[in-house]
Amino acid sequence: MAKKLFIALEGIDGSGKSTQAKLLAEKLKAAGQKVYTTFEPTDGMIGTLLRNILKGTVKADHRTIAGLFLADRLDHLLNEETGIIKKMQDGFTVITDRYYFSSYAYHATHMDMDWVIATNKICADALRPDINIFIDVSPAISMQRINSNRASAELFENLKSLSNVKAKYLEAFEKLKEQEVIFTTNGDRAAEDIAADIYARIAAI
Ligand code: ADP
Repeated sequence: MAKKLFIALEGIDGSGKSTQAKLLAEKLKAAGQKVYTTFEPTDGMIGTLLRNILKGTVKADHRTIAGLFLADRLDHLLNEETGIIKKMQDGFTVITDRYYFSSYAYHATHMDMDWVIATNKICADALRPDINIFIDVSPAISMQRINSNRASAELFENLKSLSNVKAKYLEAFEKLKEQEVIFTTNGDRAAEDIAADIYARIAAI
C-alpha cells in the first residue's frame, strides 16, 4: 500500500468518526504507511472560536458560523507548518475527522446548501478527498452513545437535529455523487466490524 491518501470521515455527532479515525490509522500504520490524523473544527484559533460557539459560550449567526468553518478549513489545508497539504507533501496519508461534507450537512439545515457548496469550492479545488467515508448511524443510536459518554450536549446534539443533519448529508451525497468518491458504511454495528469494512475499501484504493 504505497499510495498516500486523503481520507475524510463524515457522520452525525456520535457516529463514531473519531473511533474509526483511530482504528484506521492503526491499521494503515501497521501496513507501513505514515499517517497523520486530524479533525475539524481544528484546534487552531478559528477552530477554537468555533468550539466556543458550538458550546454556546460565544454567540454567532449561522451565516457567520458557515464563514468561520470555511476559514478554519482553509487554514487546516493551507497552513504552511501544520496544514494537510504540507503533511501530504511530507509523505503522510491524512485522515480527517470531518471535512466539507460536514458543512454541507450542518449549515444546510439553516441555509442554502448550494451556497455552502459553492463557497467550499476553493477547498475542493485545493484538495479533494480520495474518499469520503460516511458512517451511517441511526440518530437514536448516536444519541445513546453521546448521552452515555459526554457531560454536556452541544448545539447540534439532539435527536431532531441529528435526523435533520443526516437527511442533509444524504442530500449532499446525491448532489455531488459525480464529483466525489463516497463510501457509506453501516455505523450501527460494532466498531471493529465498521473498521474492517472501511479498511477493506481503503485497501481497494
Ligand atoms: P464522533 O467522533 O463521530 O462524535 P466517537 O467516535 O467519539 O463519535 O463515538 C461516540 C461515542 O460512542 C464514544 O464514546 C465511542 O466510544 C462510542 N462508540 C464509537 N463507535 C461505536 C460503536 N460502533 N459501537 C458502540 N459505541 C461506539
